[in-house]
Amino acid sequence: MEKLLKDGLLCKLLEKADDDFARKAREGGCEYCGEEKLHRGDYKRQPRGGPGWDKRRSFNCAKAGCRKRKTPPSVRFLGRKVYAGVVVVLVSAMMHGLKPKRIERLRQQLGIDERTLKRWRAWWLENFVQSGFWKGARARFMPGLDEEIVPLSLVEEFGAKRRDGMMKLLKFLSPISVPGGLEGVAM
Ligand SMILES: [Zn+2]
Repeated sequence: MEKLLKDGLLCKLLEKADDDFARKAREGGCEYCGEEKLHRGDYKRQPRGGPGWDKRRSFNCAKAGCRKRKTPPSVRFLGRKVYAGVVVVLVSAMMHGLKPKRIERLRQQLGIDERTLKRWRAWWLENFVQSGFWKGARARFMPGLDEEIVPLSLVEEFGAKRRDGMMKLLKFLSPISVPGGLEGVAM
């Protein structure tokens, strides 16, 4: 699993997936006023644990008086987390399976402080499993997925120890990457 954290091809695939999300968002125009033209208005974001990504794609409506923002979903940025999504998912998953010593070593290698790890754990086990997104999505997993060990159970379900499975898992999670996405709507 740790290899994926340094996988250059995975990084490229994630960038491409985000480009696709961005293109679709741009083609869809403004959701508020129907204006077709959107200007680029990327956010500066440098997620830790990524390969040097420096912006998150976003747009602004071109129409004067509207200018509403439209931020496409992302497989690289998991909501407002400081770390790249793949790090948040993998390291959180590993915490359920590894011995404390190995967790500690990995934590130090990646330079993640203990409080952050605790916060991630609480986020998955409380915020995530209680979210509207998850309540709408969990029915697709038969038999039910073990919510006591997310995201490890998600990683196993999607085969996300491998590159293609991780892509699928991050795409599955991408709706929660936009503001309000975790509250979600039933799918
Ligand atoms: Zn508009």
